[in-house]
Amino acid sequence: MQIDVRILYNGKEIDAKAILDSGAEGIYCNTSFINKYGIPVYNIDHPVYPRNVDGTLNKQGAIHHAAILRMGIGARHIENIEVTITNTGRHEILLGTDWLKVHNPSIDWSTNRMCFDHCPPQCHPIGQQDPTIRQFLLI
Ligand SMILES: [Zn+2]
Repeated sequence: MQIDVRILYNGKEIDAKAILDSGAEGIYCNTSFINKYGIPVYNIDHPVYPRNVDGTLNKQGAIHHAAILRMGIGARHIENIEVTITNTGRHEILLGTDWLKVHNPSIDWSTNRMCFDHCPPQCHPIGQQDPTIRQFLLI
């Protein structure tokens, strides 16, 4: 499923599309997005070989760069995440099981609503009043 997110960088809010992918392990950002906005990256000491959840190697091959992004979802969910940088296709961000396990959102498939009701406290710096986000898209 796809959700709208915002990347906060250099005083700007950049709209981006993220895909929640329970078939991938890691947290990734698209190379083209990083380059377009000039987001600083750093080298990973040991390259990451992304794996699919079934244990097979992802066809993208070794990843050598990562970045820290400040990412907002909805009105009240914000976090700093480390992303490894690769080709994520038509989405800017891919959130795999590493992310899903930390935030463990509740998903109501009948109303297309996702609620961040199992998050670590640092995701909700301005209160817990309504952790439901606007509708997501099923893809
Ligand atoms: Zn969270």
